[in-house]
Amino acid sequence: MPNRCVAYGCSNTSSKSISVFHFPKNDALRKKWTEQVKRTRAEWKGPTRNSVFCSEHFTQDCFEVGKRMCKSFGLETTAKLKKDAVPTSFKRKLTEALEPAAKKPAYEKRERLRVNDSM
Ligand SMILES: [Zn+2]
Repeated sequence: MPNRCVAYGCSNTSSKSISVFHFPKNDALRKKWTEQVKRTRAEWKGPTRNSVFCSEHFTQDCFEVGKRMCKSFGLETTAKLKKDAVPTSFKRKLTEALEPAAKKPAYEKRERLRVNDSM
């Protein structure tokens, strides 16, 4: 089974023109990637060993310069991400998730928990 891209509205697999990238092992970066997925897929459970992002979600400057060289040799599938690259290119706009309203439910939940604790 090929790994499918986890981004909303995308199910790309590795192909001639698409590269897929596993989630980084670095915790901080891994969290950033996870957050990016959750902005468009709130129900997403988090990365597994098989979770990947395809190259569609990374801007050109996320890739090592070497990619351009590879491309000229017809080896685009060897595209290499920079160490701190974060996927930022999604089909649905990210701005709505950035509104304060998106954070409200978590806050309310905390409030409710606190009330319960005091009882
Ligand atoms: Zn994708």
